[in-house]
Amino acid sequence: MKCPSCGKAKLRHRRVPFTHGNRYLGDFEADVCPDCGEILFTETASELINARAKQLGLWGKKSSRDRHARSPREKRALVNRNPE
Ligand SMILES: [Zn+2]
Repeated sequence: MKCPSCGKAKLRHRRVPFTHGNRYLGDFEADVCPDCGEILFTETASELINARAKQLGLWGKKSSRDRHARSPREKRALVNRNPE
């Protein structure tokens, strides 16, 4: 798979550290571009990051909307949200 950001280099699968602000959440599987440095976390990694962040109270509890039921599509959007 080619990098969607620069379109030049091929992405490499590796584990990369994920930080949110100055909190280190752990190393997660991602596809990384050796050329421009683009990092794309895998779907599984995104779920793990999301769960970890919620555990730490970094996100996911601020919105009162969270108390209401969400459609599966909205849930997917949340899980796949990329913190950039
Ligand atoms: Zn790239």
